[in-house]
Amino acid sequence: MSATVLSGRELAAAIRTETAAKAAGLAEAGTPPRLAVVVATADESSAWYVRSIAKAAEKVGITCDIVDLGGDTATETIRTALADLSADDTIHGIILQTPLPAGAALEDLASAIAFEKDVDGANPLSLGRLVAGLPAFAPATAEAVVAILDHHKVELTGRHVAVVGRSTVVGKPAAHLLLDKNATVTVCHSRTADLPAVTSSADVVVAAVGRAGLITAEYVRAGAIVVDVGTNPTDGGGLAGDVDAVSVTEQAGGLTPVPGGVGPVTTALLLQHTVRAAAVDR
Ligand code: NAP
Repeated sequence: MSATVLSGRELAAAIRTETAAKAAGLAEAGTPPRLAVVVATADESSAWYVRSIAKAAEKVGITCDIVDLGGDTATETIRTALADLSADDTIHGIILQTPLPAGAALEDLASAIAFEKDVDGANPLSLGRLVAGLPAFAPATAEAVVAILDHHKVELTGRHVAVVGRSTVVGKPAAHLLLDKNATVTVCHSRTADLPAVTSSADVVVAAVGRAGLITAEYVRAGAIVVDVGTNPTDGGGLAGDVDAVSVTEQAGGLTPVPGGVGPVTTALLLQHTVRAAAVDR
């Protein structure tokens, strides 16, 4: 039996439709929503991703400024750009694109993003507020994991979820959001002993590792739900997930595809957050 495909495309489309209606309302009321994406890298896949965000934003009526500082930008120049955008009343959302120049740390620089405009939850203050139960934007990818499970009516209360990956942008916030959904969460990482034994005891496995095809059938209990966050570039210019879909589909009950799973929901949520930030500004 093959796992059910837990697509993110329909959910992303629904979020975009709702966001477009809200964006139109805001524009009519004199607050056209505007997003700024700060880029300080010459990385080609990053440029492709930024262009796709800009295109998606324009489609729902959000103006998107790509603030391209160039690949060798000094840390302080990036910090100043973020502070200027934070102080600009016409900008409602700010994203700092990664990778950053050598020596620059996302957690450090993102502190310069006003947390009300921190639509990708990159400012450490946002994560702290989230954990404390205060209003803040969650990192969109982490929120997308929970949104896609909700959309496909995967019960989380009382279920054991294994999150593989503990990054500040995906693994940790996803674990927290899953905890908020009353799941029992195990966070795994590169030092976890006997990873397959841990993940195969879970009802839901979230793979946010950055290693193409790491999660094979051996890591998954029969009938478990698997969310693949991985977006690993392939030689052919495509994307490979962290899950070996061919092997896992025979074992899992449901599996998010790559592409077409977490990715489109992440982009849609970034736009939704921007409109929410603009609405608060009014
Ligand atoms: P990251 O910062 O590199 O973190 C990777 C995590 O995986 C780390 O916690 C690391 O453990 C753990 N890990 C690495 N190798 C492992 C192994 N063999 N076994 C167990 N754990 C291992 O990556 P990230 O930014 O969280 O991104 C994770 C994946 O999600 C990447 O493929 C990325 O491209 C993708 N992503 C997708 C979206 C989207 O919109 N779909 C957005 C963001 C990221 P340690 O902490 O011990 O090093």
